[in-house]
Amino acid sequence: MNVSQPDRYDSEIERAFLRAMVERVRTSVVANFLGVAILCYVAFVASFGRALAIGIALRVVAISITAFNTRRIVAALEHDRPVTREVNNTAYGMAFAGLTWGVLLWFVPPDGSGGLSATLVAGVVITGVAMISATASPVPRVMWAFLVGFSISVSAWLVKMTIEVGFEPVASVLAIGAAVVACSSGLTRESQSAARLIVENRQLADQLGALNAVLESAVAEKEHLACHDLLTALPNRRAFLDRTGAILEAGDEQSWAAILIDLDHFKQVNDKAGHAGGDHVLRATGALLASMVDALPDKAIAARLGGEEFVLLVRGLDDPGVRDLAVSIGARFRIVPSPAGYDGRISASMGLARWLPGEAIDRCLQRADEALYQAKAAGRDRAVMADCPFAVAARSEADAIIAADAKLRAAG
Ligand code: GH3
Ligand code: MG
Ligand code: MG
Repeated sequence: MNVSQPDRYDSEIERAFLRAMVERVRTSVVANFLGVAILCYVAFVASFGRALAIGIALRVVAISITAFNTRRIVAALEHDRPVTREVNNTAYGMAFAGLTWGVLLWFVPPDGSGGLSATLVAGVVITGVAMISATASPVPRVMWAFLVGFSISVSAWLVKMTIEVGFEPVASVLAIGAAVVACSSGLTRESQSAARLIVENRQLADQLGALNAVLESAVAEKEHLACHDLLTALPNRRAFLDRTGAILEAGDEQSWAAILIDLDHFKQVNDKAGHAGGDHVLRATGALLASMVDALPDKAIAARLGGEEFVLLVRGLDDPGVRDLAVSIGARFRIVPSPAGYDGRISASMGLARWLPGEAIDRCLQRADEALYQAKAAGRDRAVMADCPFAVAARSEADAIIAADAKLRAAG
């Protein structure tokens, strides 16, 4: 079990290096098989071809091992599993692959009799080693395992060459080797910083996304605050004017009527129960009106116009219906508890007005306000319909409330 073994590649950056490497391995598959194809061609035509076949077979085994190991790294990365063991296996596999590249050179005759075929083998080896170093460069452990494997087999070949043909050709091979090593180290830095940049960019994008979400919710909250009353959570005067403006624009004003609501003796509530007690009553009024709006979806708009003054705009009710609704609201105020310190009963007076065709909402509210004034003058806790002096709704009588509730249910 490797459960207790810590994962060396648990950071996002390390995993990005691994992803960069396996991506390169994927794209180098074609080049790898092209190299094998050239070697096969040489094996057919060259005098040393038969011996080279052993090297080609080793190369095919190495390519298969690498493909297998990288597939296992990809699977571990995809499932977010620890990947250390897979990387170690890949490093061993790549050390073997390095050996196989050097082994290819062993079969080339050192005396120069190999001609063009020998040059082709040397070309494939130099290109292949440089390409694989570049491929493995994002993960130094794998790259160095490959170069060590290659160095071992190529060193053996160099010793053999030095003995058989002298040091001169060996020196040029060493120079090429040194260039490959220098280039590979540079590539490691280069490819790691590219992978790091990708990760950092993604992290920045994530942070930006999170900031955007915060900003969006702050803007939404600000917009909500701009058109809602903080204390009661009802729409404020501005929001009310926006909505009534839209109704007027749509030419639908005639189907609406306004119920202007003003709490009775509210100053006394404040004086006796304190400002907090008054606020409590205002909140209860807000909840009462919000529940009426919920009961009449798309048929009612409530707002706090300021202080202890509210409005309920209702649609689709005739004059008796509006009056009954007002009586029902008056009845509901009876169950609003009085705040501690205030021994009176909470009630409200209401002024009702139909919204006349083409009439500005301010004018409609002004007529409702005049009716409200009459309701106050007549003793409060009642509703008066504007331009209809006989339609005075007295203190809620049981039958009026029952009728209003029945109408409400029918309208809802
Ligand atoms: P009436 O029956 O004639 O309507 O008398 P009233 O006392 O209700 O009316 P008045 O206009 O004299 O007093 C309204 C009070 O409402 C005065 C003001 O301090 C209070 N008020 C306005 N806004 C708030 C608020 O947000 N919270 C609290 N607690 N009181 C408020
Ligand atoms: Mg008032
Ligand atoms: Mg009042």
